[in-house]
Amino acid sequence: MSENRPAFYQSSTWKKKRLVILRRDGYQCQDCKRYGRIRQAITVHHIQHLDEHPELAFQPDNLISLCAECHNKRHPEKGGKRW
Ligand SMILES: [Zn+2]
Ligand SMILES: [Zn+2]
Repeated sequence: MSENRPAFYQSSTWKKKRLVILRRDGYQCQDCKRYGRIRQAITVHHIQHLDEHPELAFQPDNLISLCAECHNKRHPEKGGKRW
């Protein structure tokens, strides 16, 4: 399922939440961290995808900071393009 929901990702509620999550994760990619790498997180990913679980859209437990590479790995269905 895709996260391509421009209206959602442009909402100020999401932008604020995104910053909260990035700050919580120390602005570091949490997947890289697991492997002992330090890389800046640039995106916040929904673990349970937004399309399938809109009720979890703002749940901190469902959100994780990732770098572009790790984010793409979590979205094989996107062909490594979109966030
Ligand atoms: Zn990473
Ligand atoms: Zn994602």
